[in-house]
Amino acid sequence: MSSAKKRKVDHECRVFNDNWTWKYFYANFNDRAMCLICRDMVAVFKEFNFKRHFQTAIFVVT
Ligand SMILES: [Zn+2]
Repeated sequence: MSSAKKRKVDHECRVFNDNWTWKYFYANFNDRAMCLICRDMVAVFKEFNFKRHFQTAIFVVT
């Protein structure tokens, strides 16, 4: 039972979360995530990566 729970968490880290599109302006694009602001590509689907990039992009634009 506990091993199934662990696998689920690992699986979610590798799947693009649609919430990231409106939260961080990243879209799923050919098994990668693409920033809609500067078209930067991210291969690892970790929320930390999107969050950090989004916060950096805000400083650049403003
Ligand atoms: Zn960007």
